[in-house]
Amino acid sequence: MKMFEVPQPQIPVSGSEQSFPVHRIYCVGRNYAAHAREMGNDPDREPPFYFMKPADAVVPGGGDIKYPPRTNDLHHEVELVVAIGTGGSSISVDDAQSHVFGYGVGIDLTRRDLQTDAKDAGRPWDTGKSFEQAAPVSALHAANDIGHPDKGRIWLVVNGDLRQEGDLGDMIWSVPEAIAELSTYFTLAPGDLLFTGTPAGVSPVVTGDMVTAGIDGLDNIEIQII
Ligand code: MN
Repeated sequence: MKMFEVPQPQIPVSGSEQSFPVHRIYCVGRNYAAHAREMGNDPDREPPFYFMKPADAVVPGGGDIKYPPRTNDLHHEVELVVAIGTGGSSISVDDAQSHVFGYGVGIDLTRRDLQTDAKDAGRPWDTGKSFEQAAPVSALHAANDIGHPDKGRIWLVVNGDLRQEGDLGDMIWSVPEAIAELSTYFTLAPGDLLFTGTPAGVSPVVTGDMVTAGIDGLDNIEIQII
C-alpha cells in the first residue's frame, strides 16, 4: 500500500474529455538563431542541446504563477510544445511525427540570474530552469485534428506589450530533427513533452504581470505572476 498519493500532472486536450498525463519534460536550448545571438552565442557553430524540467513543473492551461524564490530576473520564453504519444529510441527524422500525439503552447520560465551564474561556473542549469510552476502549457491539440505545424507566428505579450515574436519556420532544428536527436540520448515514452526553444525577445516579468502567448492554430496561454 502506498504511503500517500502523489498527483499525476496532466494537461487538458482541446475538444476532448481526456487529459494527457505528463511523464518527462525535455527542452531544447537555443533553437532560434536570433535568440541564440541575444544570449551571446553563435548559432552557426553550436548545435542544439537538451535540458529537463520535472513533470510537476507543468501548470496545465496557465493561470496564477507564484514569483519564485532566489531570483530577481524571472524570464519568459514562449515555445511550441510537442506531446509524445508513442515512445521509442533512435527514432528517425522521417518517422518522428508518427510519435507525436499533439501540440501546445508553453512558457519556459527561467530564473535567468541563476542560469547565468550556473553557465559561468560550468554548473548544471537545474536551479535556473527546473523550479515549481516553471512549465505552464496550454491545452493540447491532437495532431489528428491540426496536423504538424512547421511554420506560423509564435508570440508573447506582457501587459499588452509585444515582447517576443517569431515564426516556427525559423527553428534551427525542426521538430522531427529535435525528436530524432533527443531519442538518441533518451528512450522517449508516452507522456513526454518537448519544449522546442524560444524566439528572440526574452525579458523579465515581475509580480502583477499578465503574460499571454500563442502560436497560429493553437490555444493561447495566459499566466499572471502573483
Ligand atoms: Mn527555452
